[in-house]
Amino acid sequence: MIKRLTLISASIALGCLATIGPVLISVYVASKDAESRDREELREFANKAVMRAELVTYQAFAALSDLDRIPGPVCSPDRLHQAARVVYNYRYVQDAGAYGDGHYLCSPLLGDISTKNIALPPPDYRSADGYLVWFRQKSPLSDVRKDIQIGRNGNYVSVDSGSYVDLIDPARRPIAAIQITTGTLMAISPGVDPAEMLDAWKYGGDVKSDQWYYAVAQSATRPLGVVVRSPRGSVLGDWPKVLATWLAVGVVVAAAFGWLVYRRITRQLSFPATLEWAIARRKIDVVYQPVVRLADGECVGVEALVRWTLNGRAISPDVFVRVAEDNRLIQPLTDLVLEKTLAQLVSLLVANPAFYVTINVSAEDLSSLRFLNRLDASLAGTGIAPQQIRIEATERSFMNHDTTRGVIAAFRAAGHPVYIDDFGTGYSSLAYLQTFEVDVLKIDKSFVDTVVQESASSVVAPHIIAMAHELNVEIVAEGVESAAQAAWLRERGVQYGQGWYYAKAMAAQELVRWIGQNRAQAHTRASADSQPTL
Ligand code: C2E
Ligand code: CA
Ligand code: CA
Repeated sequence: MIKRLTLISASIALGCLATIGPVLISVYVASKDAESRDREELREFANKAVMRAELVTYQAFAALSDLDRIPGPVCSPDRLHQAARVVYNYRYVQDAGAYGDGHYLCSPLLGDISTKNIALPPPDYRSADGYLVWFRQKSPLSDVRKDIQIGRNGNYVSVDSGSYVDLIDPARRPIAAIQITTGTLMAISPGVDPAEMLDAWKYGGDVKSDQWYYAVAQSATRPLGVVVRSPRGSVLGDWPKVLATWLAVGVVVAAAFGWLVYRRITRQLSFPATLEWAIARRKIDVVYQPVVRLADGECVGVEALVRWTLNGRAISPDVFVRVAEDNRLIQPLTDLVLEKTLAQLVSLLVANPAFYVTINVSAEDLSSLRFLNRLDASLAGTGIAPQQIRIEATERSFMNHDTTRGVIAAFRAAGHPVYIDDFGTGYSSLAYLQTFEVDVLKIDKSFVDTVVQESASSVVAPHIIAMAHELNVEIVAEGVESAAQAAWLRERGVQYGQGWYYAKAMAAQELVRWIGQNRAQAHTRASADSQPTL
């Protein structure tokens, strides 16, 4: 029982492990996979953002050199006209004009303001190649707006800092553009904390955060960099799809694995263990199939047949008897069948001294006198005569064993008739069979099946019957299913029959009732069967 419990809990644990393990692994792999995809995608986005920053800067430079191209005095109509063209042609340039002596001079939008004394402070940054940069310069046109201004040779262009960071992105990931030499924040997406983005820049994007991933990129040609950010685990909503794919794989693998484990456990471990448990708990039943005299249909005895119902399902004895034989359980099983049979049929046997029951035994039961001794000990004092308990053994179970010859002789000497079961399906020659002393042959159902058919195999049955006659033993035909078969067998001198034509195997109580009815009907049926049917 303890062994069985351990077995069951072990199989449950293994089943769970087999089922949940791969799913957990799948989820883990899926999350790692999604994370690396997220990060890769974010790095690509940072590269795009840095390209935009370069593009805006180079437009400003190109605009400045266009302004330089027209000669003549500062703020001449020609030069103002050229400035207007530059503003119109360069998408990111908002205004273009001239300055001098720390003052704005003119631009197409401002007009000539050289006399108005509007100050332009010294630049925030001077590049090595002669560009001046004002990172957040208030425009004379607005009180609130601060643009990036880039100047050279007395010309300047104004660029809306938003141009650096307004990439079209469905995921709306924020961007910060940074001047690398000074570490100045040039532009940032609205609503994002500049300190946080500058911090991420400082650490190359390698910031521990439960909420965000960061990535940085740097221009190869200008001292420009960007920082981008995206929420952890949901870039572009790809994650659920990835998870679903991996989960499906996990479930299929788990199901396959679980099924294999389950099959292995139920087939190899648990079945014999469960059978052992059932025998120990005596959860095995015995039913009885009548054997009738063919001449008059009267029941002369029964065959005890073992039955096992597991979880509401009847297991075929062909299956579990074999399992019992292969797992050293057949002796306890035979003992249990004997014990139940004697307990259930004792009154019937004692009241009808000519009535008998046959018990099926296996090779192991015939390998020693153990079962015979047990049988005789059980009979002592019951009033049952030895010839009322008979044994059935197949040819295969006692051929080739010298010891079984002695054991069979001992059964007969003790008064128990011995039957050869499934006669005709073994491989023994008649000469060999003659060396065995037995009392009855049971012709196998497969031959009885053929007797009223006009098939080639039907010629075997008469031959087998002839063999039995030659051995000078009585014959029981197994598996009789029709009146025609019964008549055919009777005509050829077969004395007894057993089969569904007469009765199926039944429980002891039902048997007692059936025998009462059978006695009344036996005579009637015998006369019906003797009508020529072939
Ligand atoms: P068996 O000893 O040849 O038993 C006869 C089988 O044929 C039984 O099947 C019986 O129910 C079935 N049978 C009887 N009449 C008919 C019929 O007219 N038509 C058909 N189609 N079948 C019929 P069962 O009970 O399933 O037993 C199968 C085998 O299991 C037995 O074959 C026997 O070899 C083994 N067995 C049964 N009980 C025991 C037992 O207590 N101990 C041992 N060692 N083996 C047993
Ligand atoms: Ca049998
Ligand atoms: Ca048989």
